[in-house]
Amino acid sequence: MIRINENYSKLKASYLFADIARRVGAFTSANPAKPVIRLGIGDVTEPLPPACVEALHAATDEMAQRATFKGYGPEQGYAFLRDLIAKNDYADRGCRIEPDEIFVSDGSKCDCGNIQEIFATDIRLAIPDPVYPVYVDTNVMAGRTGQNVDGRYEGILYLDSTAANGYVPAVPTAPADLIYLCFPNNPTGAVATRAQLEAWVDYSKRNKAVILYDSAYESYIRDPAIPHSIYEIEGARDVAIEFRSFSKTAGFTGTRCAYTVVPKTLMAADAAGRPQPLHALWNRRHTTKFNGVSYPVQKAAAAVFTEAGKAQVKGLTDFYLANARLIRESMTRLGFACVGGDNAPYIWINVKRDSWEFFDLLLEKAQVVCTPGAGFGKCGEGHVRISAFNSRENVEKALDRIASALR
Ligand code: PLP
Repeated sequence: MIRINENYSKLKASYLFADIARRVGAFTSANPAKPVIRLGIGDVTEPLPPACVEALHAATDEMAQRATFKGYGPEQGYAFLRDLIAKNDYADRGCRIEPDEIFVSDGSKCDCGNIQEIFATDIRLAIPDPVYPVYVDTNVMAGRTGQNVDGRYEGILYLDSTAANGYVPAVPTAPADLIYLCFPNNPTGAVATRAQLEAWVDYSKRNKAVILYDSAYESYIRDPAIPHSIYEIEGARDVAIEFRSFSKTAGFTGTRCAYTVVPKTLMAADAAGRPQPLHALWNRRHTTKFNGVSYPVQKAAAAVFTEAGKAQVKGLTDFYLANARLIRESMTRLGFACVGGDNAPYIWINVKRDSWEFFDLLLEKAQVVCTPGAGFGKCGEGHVRISAFNSRENVEKALDRIASALR
């Protein structure tokens, strides 16, 4: 009989959000009169910015006419969008990124998950803990790890993010080849300073390593001293790939548009030790396995860079950040140490007890759903993540209920 990819059997049995859904489902069927407020899953709640909706409508009308209809577009994305990204997200911040170094896609989840394909299977991985689970699981599926022993996969160098280091891991003493970094961070909401990112770029140069920099939450940064892109760091073009998404910036979680930057100067060695451009490999992968984001969606994404779009995106992210501030202030008043929420839509709360126990407590006593930190890794134990993605009314109601339940 045909055999399965055994690496899949190394994956931990249940997915975090499926576990949460099961517990919430059990609670709601036992307590139909108690409505639950979800501050767990990191999905946005506000509609698309009007500039994006207008562009979507106009592009849909173009698709209805023979003269303006579009079939397959360029796999890497239309030039109109790549040019706008290069100018607004990079040139305007002093970063040298060419439009043809940008690969438009239908999501950062796929890009963060697929990128590992262009690297050898026996490379050394460094992955933060706690972490967005996609980085770990896709490497497990690809066979880059051993078994999961006591909550950690053999063969991964875990970068502990704890209260002791302000939830920003320091560079390790051991060498690694591929390093995953995410700032502003999911789940902790922590941001990395310029000096911290400089240390990572320097480490990668010394070790001839590559940084995979996930900045899906870049548009939430308000502190002017915090870099928005890894390419703001001198030399990062030679060591880093960056992932960006319109999901949390402009409410595109259901519309789907993101992009990955692979600078042409970024190299990795072939079996004979000769440097090969990763840009060519990713281009090959992307054009072989992906057929482009739909024209109306790329038009909607381009509208993010109009004057109206920029103002609306700022309004949207300001709205979630105001929710985040309320959550952080309220949890701090209740005596918990918190990070995040100031430059990120997540608040990471040190609850100093089992994270699933705290999850159950909030669900049963306050009917509020948070995310137990243990689901993001061993170092997430003792913490929960509360997300700012909800209406103001629900956030305020949830915070009142939490305060009454914990007092
Ligand atoms: N990267 C991080 C850190 C995320 O938290 C998420 C979504 O929650 C993604 C990537 C995925 O974004 P997308 O909607 O573009 O797939």
